[in-house]
This record gives sequence, structure tokens and C-alpha cells, in this order.
Amino acid sequence: MEADMRRSFAALTAAALLSLLSACSDSRDEAPADPPAGPRPGTWLSGDLHLHSDHSDDAADNPMAELVNVAEERGMGFFTVTDHDNHVEGRLTTWDDPAFRSGKMVLLYGVEYTTARGHANIFGTKPFDHPRLYALRDRSDVGAGRAIAAEAHAQGLHLSVNHPVNGDPWEFGFDMPFDSMEVWNALYAFPTDNSGAIRLWDELIGGGRRITGRGGSDCHHQTGIESLGLNVGNPTTWVYAEAPTAAAVLAALKAGHVAVGYAPTAERLRLTADADHDGGYEALMGDSLPAAGRPVAFRLEIDGARPLAVYNVTVLKNGQPFLERRLFGEQALDFEDRPAAGQRSWYRVEVRGSTPEAPAAAVLVGFYGGFVGLTNPIYFGFE
Ligand SMILES: [Zn+2]
Ligand SMILES: [Zn+2]
Repeated sequence: MEADMRRSFAALTAAALLSLLSACSDSRDEAPADPPAGPRPGTWLSGDLHLHSDHSDDAADNPMAELVNVAEERGMGFFTVTDHDNHVEGRLTTWDDPAFRSGKMVLLYGVEYTTARGHANIFGTKPFDHPRLYALRDRSDVGAGRAIAAEAHAQGLHLSVNHPVNGDPWEFGFDMPFDSMEVWNALYAFPTDNSGAIRLWDELIGGGRRITGRGGSDCHHQTGIESLGLNVGNPTTWVYAEAPTAAAVLAALKAGHVAVGYAPTAERLRLTADADHDGGYEALMGDSLPAAGRPVAFRLEIDGARPLAVYNVTVLKNGQPFLERRLFGEQALDFEDRPAAGQRSWYRVEVRGSTPEAPAAAVLVGFYGGFVGLTNPIYFGFE
């Protein structure tokens, strides 16, 4: 989809550019503070799980040192670069770049598995044997997807399908054990309409799988008009990790302790549940609880909520709107439901509205869809 994106951005009007410039100039609020997600210990870490550096052949103006700087300046907690692998025949150069280091951010080792049948990001805690994965890229048999996943998992890696239905859609199939899916690529509504990926996500969960939804900016450039509308962290993926380590970040990503927001400075969403009514809200998004048929109290919290902001909250149950509520600068929404006994149910939240960093002009609201953020689901009766 990268080529499509560049063409689309080139079509931005001058008026839109001016709006962007004015919106960007007064919009660097602090990232949300760090309250706990529930009784469990942990820390919120922000990151961008889809970035290209000048080690990708289509991102020459995204030098590694500058990417690291931008990410550190934006307060990112973890950092990865997912360069294309196809133009170097699978022999990555990204990790050997002396600029690929940070004293502030947790580093993940990543790559964009760039094949004729779709793209996936692969993440590890340390350098891995990518040529072994690359050797599988041209397989077209029905077992190809499973073979790729098996090789990734044999190396202890996280396999995450990118832009699954847009641009270069994933054609290895979805009945393979990938670990997460990019449900929000670049600006929410432009140049990719991410609603198709969200629908697919709900369908796969409806089929009984717990799949983490994550974001990724797919940022390729630090110059030109695209870099004004889309840069490191648009969108940002937040993980609630047990510790600030690469292994804990990937564990949280796999477990779905994840929310996605428009930018690192945008509001961060937390969905928790209290199934035993002790007021503890011990279940966090990504968790699965028994389908006991008893009432459950849910709480959505909006970290970094602004007093004058309007948030249009949609709670989705089993992929369908369950509750819609307009919040005026409030930081929390409590609701209750009784997930059916012995059946699978899942609840997740989407929030629309304005957000500090997002461009205010109507045309650009169209680009990001007024989409502030989304949570991963809390599951009942899964596994
Ligand atoms: Zn891609
Ligand atoms: Zn990409």
C-alpha cells in the first residue's frame, strides 16, 4: 500500500496543507500520565509498530538517526523499525545500523515481510534468522501461511499481519496462528479505510479466536507533505507491560493488553472489568473471563481526557454497537452487562471526537476519521 499512500498524499490540496501546518504548531501536549491498569503491576509503554527507515528502498528520506530522535522526542516507550526485506533478498541491514539504538526506549527487532501475497511484520527481542523466513515467501500452497507462522514461532518471534485487506492484502489466509493484526494503518480513514480491517478483526474473533488488534503508521518519510500528516506514532500502540523490556512488550502485545490511539499525545483508552464485584476491576483488555452468566461491571477510562473535549464512545459487544454515549470531558464511563452463560462474548470500545494533535480542518478530520482511539476486547468464554 506504500505506493498508493504516496500518490494519495501528493494529492492533498494547498488549503489542507495550511490547515495541517496551523494545527501542528500548537498541538504538542504531554503524553498521558501513567496510572495502573488494574491491580496487576505493570507499565504503559507507547510505540509505533510499523516504521520504515532508509534501509527500505522507498524511504530514503527517513534516516534511522532521525527516526530514533523523533520517537524519543515524542516520548515513545519502545521502538522498532520494520524495513522491507524484498529488495535485499531477505538480508536485512537495519539492525546493523549504528544509529539503531536508544538509551530511552525498549528496542524490538522488526522487519516487514514483504511478499507478493501480502505483508506481515515480524518482531523479536533480539536479531533473528530472517533468511529462514524469507525462504518461505514464495510458497503458494495451502500450507504456506502455517509454515511461515511455524518458522516464526520456532524462533520465538511475533508474527503480525499488516493492512490485511487494503493495498497489499494478506492472501496467505487467516486460519493460521498469527499473533496480532494491524487494524489501524496510517490515518484511520486515509489513504486506507481501516474499517475493513476492523470488520475482519471482529469476524475472526466471532469465529472464536483471540487476536490482538494493533496500530502502525507505516511512516516512510521525514520530508514532503506526507510527513506533515503522518509521522512516527500516527497511530500509537500502547501496551501494558509487566516491565520495560522487549520480552514484556511482546508478551503484552500477544496478550492483547493493548490500546491504539491517534498519536502518542492523544487520549489513551483503558477498558477493565470487575466480574466479582469487589470494585477491583481486575480484568484488563485482552483478558478472557469465564462465561458464568453473571453481571459484570465494565469501566472505560480515558487517560489524558481534556476538560472541554467531546468524546463519542461506542461500546461494541460481539462486533455490534451495544452502547453509545457522548462524554463531555469525562474521564470514565461505567457500564454493566451480563455476558451469556456458556457462550463466547467480547466487548471492545471505539472513541471518536477531536484529539489534541489531530488536524482540525474538516477535510483532515475526514482523513483520520475523527478517530481518537480503540481498545482491544475483554473476552468471555474464550478458550
Ligand atoms: Zn506493507
Ligand atoms: Zn510498510
